[in-house]
Amino acid sequence: MKITFNGAAGVVTGSCHLIETGNTKFLLDCGLFQGSEELEELNGKFTFKPEEIDFVILSHGHLDHCGRLPLLVKRGFKGKIFATSGTIDISRLILLDAAQVQQENIKTENRRRLREGKRPKELLYTTDDVFDTFSHFKECSFYKWYSVGPIKFKFHDAGHILCSEFIEIEIEGKKLIFSGDIGNEGKPLIKDPEEPPKGDIVLIETTYGNRKHKSFKESVEEFKEAILSTFKRNGVVLIPTFALERAQDLLYILKKMYEKRELPPCKVFLDSPLAISITKTFKRHPECLEEKVVKEMRERGLFNFPYLEFTKTVEESKKINYYRGRAIIIAGNGMCTGGRILHHIKHRIWDKNNSIVFVGYQAEGTLGREIVEGKRKVKVFNEIVKVNAKVYTINGFSSHADQPQLLHWLKKASHRETQVILVHGEREVQEAFYGKVKEAGINKVYLPKLYDTLEL
Ligand SMILES: [Zn+2]
Repeated sequence: MKITFNGAAGVVTGSCHLIETGNTKFLLDCGLFQGSEELEELNGKFTFKPEEIDFVILSHGHLDHCGRLPLLVKRGFKGKIFATSGTIDISRLILLDAAQVQQENIKTENRRRLREGKRPKELLYTTDDVFDTFSHFKECSFYKWYSVGPIKFKFHDAGHILCSEFIEIEIEGKKLIFSGDIGNEGKPLIKDPEEPPKGDIVLIETTYGNRKHKSFKESVEEFKEAILSTFKRNGVVLIPTFALERAQDLLYILKKMYEKRELPPCKVFLDSPLAISITKTFKRHPECLEEKVVKEMRERGLFNFPYLEFTKTVEESKKINYYRGRAIIIAGNGMCTGGRILHHIKHRIWDKNNSIVFVGYQAEGTLGREIVEGKRKVKVFNEIVKVNAKVYTINGFSSHADQPQLLHWLKKASHRETQVILVHGEREVQEAFYGKVKEAGINKVYLPKLYDTLEL
């Protein structure tokens, strides 16, 4: 068998691994490169002809795992895309949103590129290509074997986001395990990652292979403290957040605070159409939620409490600017590089009574990172705004396993002869994790680079 890494090798994004065996070719994920311009330039590059790919197995609905599927279809892919029904629901929303954002941004981006003397960018795909992609999705259940030609596969719960999977594959008489992204333990809504069976070949993600998270519980306490101290100043709390998983975790924590009478009267605005749609998706997939959460959902609903308001339209969102009184505004995007959070930052961050609470990773070069690093003045919509609001950074809400959790999972998946392939991580992080894997007595460990082919 041959594996060629068309993404997420030495980098985090662009997850896409081509597997070839006999006459069969298939992909594990087909995700988008994100982050730097150099990486994004790679989005058009595949080492294979899309029409020759027999099928795709998709691990979950994050854009860096599903975001190039419409391009694959646009270029001639005819096969099926296998995933659980929750992953398909989420991928539909995420892909439509991605196509719309690309279509909205391309004109401004190309004007900037022309000014910088660069070639204009082409749209990777349109919403029409996304709709074409939907007809390729094939809904699968967890824990059931499926087969295509000589390949058999089964989905297990990876506990990363709603209905995310790791995949057990039988190929050439061997067992291949693809981790997808492995979840962080102790999150409130979805189940913890399942323990994997033993594999002969294991492809494992390494996003946080070099660090240990704070526990989810401690992070919830920090989060509560940030809100309550802002409310003592009669301020407003801004939370830039990812629409998927993090937003729902936060709503659930706030609802629990309300039920325990820990949350003073206030407004909680969920100001993101994508986050609102995804929140509704949670209700359709009890199979991926903790048992006690399902019970609660059936008895009293998961996210509904009187202070919560969904703001769908632009007009409703703009109205929040004039809201006086205690409020929590949850809006995207998570790193403040676009989206509705920007106008909230512009209107609120100069006021020392307000707070901005970061609950996710802030990549270098983003507005979020500038604020986290203590910049006193930032540029928002071409206007300089002073940062007087209190800035909080809460680290333990991650959806990814940390180093000890990754190692634990990998040890369960390995025997003495297992070949381990480290993917989905920055090179430095992977090298740190590589050392730990060797220390754990696993000897055959590979660190592929982008577009490398491994013959196993
Ligand atoms: Zn992910």
